[in-house]
Amino acid sequence: MSMAVGEYVSVSSQRDAERADLEREMRELGAQPEAELAELATIYVKRGLDHALAAKVAEQLSAHDRLGAHLRDELGLDQTTRALLVQAAWISAVSFALFAGIPIVGLLLAPEALGIVVIAALSLVSLALLGALSGRLGGAPLGRASLRVTVGGALAMAATAVVGRLLGVTAA
Ligand SMILES: [Zn+2]
Repeated sequence: MSMAVGEYVSVSSQRDAERADLEREMRELGAQPEAELAELATIYVKRGLDHALAAKVAEQLSAHDRLGAHLRDELGLDQTTRALLVQAAWISAVSFALFAGIPIVGLLLAPEALGIVVIAALSLVSLALLGALSGRLGGAPLGRASLRVTVGGALAMAATAVVGRLLGVTAA
């Protein structure tokens, strides 16, 4: 659940930042349209167009969708990428919540004395599966994706255990 909330928070703050960019861009377009057109042309020059062509491209794209051209070419905001990011965050939030269920079920079924061992082992198995799934969805090599998540999870568990010991908290 905390992973799911973490994803939600990260997507929301990114969206807030984008909204602020969008509002600033709209203000600038309203206040100084000439400077904004020149700015757009400069961007196309940097990408390799000559000045005359850049000015023409900036003019035509502005006539077609001025705000859209600035958001895409000046700020790098693109509708498709944004939609994909939101989708990825949802998949990640849901799969973290689902895979977190595996060690919890294990803990409920395991004998009491083995609780910590079982939850640690099942968490690692669950992370390995989650890593493999993310590798598959992202088109990355399964082994490497799985290993990365598992090692990261193991380090997080070790850090948690150390903090627990330092604070004198026993989980058993
Ligand atoms: Zn602009």
